[in-house]
Amino acid sequence: MKELKAELQAISVILTIAFSSYLFSEYFFIVLCVALFSYLSWHLYQLQRFYTLFINNKKITMPPPAGLWGLLYQTLDERQIRWQHYRHNKRRIFSRFQQAFKHFPYAVIILDNSWRINWYNNSCRKLFTKNSTIMHTNLADLINHPVLNEYIEAADFSSPLEIQSPIDKVSILSLQFIPLSSDKKQETLLIIRDITASFHLDQTRKDFIANVTHELKTPLTVFNGFLEPMCEDLREKKEDLPPHWAYSIELMHQQSLRMNDIVNELLLLSKLEISGAAAAMDIINMSEFINDSIHNAELFSGESSHKITTDIQQDLNLKGDRKIIKTIINNLLVNAIKYTPRHSHITIFWYSRPDKAYLIVKDSGEGIAARHLARLTERFYRVESGRSRDKGGTGLGLAIVNHALIRHQGELQISSETGHGSSFRCIFPKERISD
Ligand code: ADP
Repeated sequence: MKELKAELQAISVILTIAFSSYLFSEYFFIVLCVALFSYLSWHLYQLQRFYTLFINNKKITMPPPAGLWGLLYQTLDERQIRWQHYRHNKRRIFSRFQQAFKHFPYAVIILDNSWRINWYNNSCRKLFTKNSTIMHTNLADLINHPVLNEYIEAADFSSPLEIQSPIDKVSILSLQFIPLSSDKKQETLLIIRDITASFHLDQTRKDFIANVTHELKTPLTVFNGFLEPMCEDLREKKEDLPPHWAYSIELMHQQSLRMNDIVNELLLLSKLEISGAAAAMDIINMSEFINDSIHNAELFSGESSHKITTDIQQDLNLKGDRKIIKTIINNLLVNAIKYTPRHSHITIFWYSRPDKAYLIVKDSGEGIAARHLARLTERFYRVESGRSRDKGGTGLGLAIVNHALIRHQGELQISSETGHGSSFRCIFPKERISD
């Protein structure tokens, strides 16, 4: 290293001067002391100067000395330039972020780790208060809502929270929390949207479906009431009708029964969707429940003779609504039978892992192509509508299962591969488990 060489050269010059003074005079010791003192003073001066520049983060203006100090000054200078670039970039990004969010149509808030407001944009002012500042206000004071406290305590921000506006009771707000985990201060970004219009539209849609299906129920019951005995009479040859009439009546009966199924399932789905309340907490002995459903499923399978087996954690009970849980198991089992060839294997698993319980219906049927999986829980979505209809499907079964699970704070996960069967996993949170 050439700087070290320069330093050694300086020391050798001092020693040469001292040694020469020894040859020509008797002041060798004094000359050596003076030379060493000067050398040390110069180093101390450089050290102090370096310290001052480093601490005050000042730019180096004087020309750097040669040797090791020169190298240190140069390195410090380069670091300072890099640091200034970094700070400049950071400031520019922050000011862009502020500019972008200032006029953002949604309210944006940055909360600190005690849920106090650290920053907010103009839209936030419009949503909450036009006059006073909300800076450093606690979120719970700004939006005083018991549901908000529960939501924050649960710390699951995967889906937004929908609540009434604190200042205008007819408005509905959607709150999306995004933890800024990379930040050591653990700040949270909160985006608030006014979703009143879409909320009411969705509510109107749900009410409309519920009302229409409810209105259809009575005339359908009347049709079925008349068609049922007519078909029986025709089958028992009590009535003598031309063959095309007999066929038409039989078809009308079949279709009205089908419509009845659709109406019943739509009514159930509407009920599950409209009621926001959590499902009941009855203690359900799942082992008994599953075996019961298997018995019905085997009757449904009939001559197709599906082989249904179980793998059940016996001591594990579920806290839920009996009727709804039965609907979940029945729907999944009936689907497994409908979409699995004769004599094939279906397995039901029921077990718990540290903080979740799993109900899985696995079949060895034809499977479902990946592109359909995300849409299977939409109402009336069918992979092959003709086939589903032939098997008495309404396209509502999985939508019902999905909503039934939401009422239990659970979720439905579907995995499948064409030709390798499907697996429907109902996941329940630990609050729903009972030993
Ligand atoms: P459906 O009344 O038509 O069975 P679902 O909502 O229960 O309606 O199911 C939606 C679609 O998902 C079905 O039409 C079928 O194509 C597919 N599906 C459901 N379960 C299975 C399964 N176990 N195996 C293969 N496909 C299935």
